[in-house]
Amino acid sequence: MDILAAKRERHSIRVLLVEDDMEIARRLSEGLRDAGFVVEHAGDGEMGLSLGKTEEFDAAILDLGLPDISGVDVLKRWRKAERLMPVLILTARDSWTDKVDGLNAGADDYITKPFHVPEVAARLRALIRRAAGKASPTLTFGEIELSPVSGTVTLKGVAVDITANEFRLLNYFMHRQGRVIPQSELLDHLYSLEEERDPNTIEVYVGRLRKKLGRDIIKTLRGLGYRMG
Ligand code: CA
Repeated sequence: MDILAAKRERHSIRVLLVEDDMEIARRLSEGLRDAGFVVEHAGDGEMGLSLGKTEEFDAAILDLGLPDISGVDVLKRWRKAERLMPVLILTARDSWTDKVDGLNAGADDYITKPFHVPEVAARLRALIRRAAGKASPTLTFGEIELSPVSGTVTLKGVAVDITANEFRLLNYFMHRQGRVIPQSELLDHLYSLEEERDPNTIEVYVGRLRKKLGRDIIKTLRGLGYRMG
């Protein structure tokens, strides 16, 4: 495996960061990437709103003080559009009303500025774990069982050795059984927008999943994408 591929294997949790302060955004993005997250950054509310509504994220970090749309409004509109990813809000230290407004609008946790990046990473992991536990303990497809909480996959009750990206892809398919998923959507889910994306990697991962779990689990629909079930 080359270095880039090794790096991608590690990057498996996708986080949206909405923050207009470029210095804070840079520090957070770098720190979280080092901690193994894929980070998409939106520098204003409009872009954050749009990314959060149209793309899949495991969690979002949302600054409440944005220049265009307020963070609370962004959050309300995500929730209205049934975007249910865990949201960690960033607030000014002295503003308890912000925290209350944010939590009432559907935030899952908050952190006050200034903060330490490892604390943000730890809070995110806790939120994502909790959200996964809430969603469903295990997903099944035929004789395959996947546990989002423990990150394990079994075939006929026997544990299957699986990499982080394979797990991530399989989890995505298992949540969308019967649906045709375009390759571009799978790429979006696996990689950050800034990372070099090679569409061939999807075919490689799907090939590995077939090898480990059964040739027919994921069908290729030429020119359309992939489908499980
Ligand atoms: Ca701000």
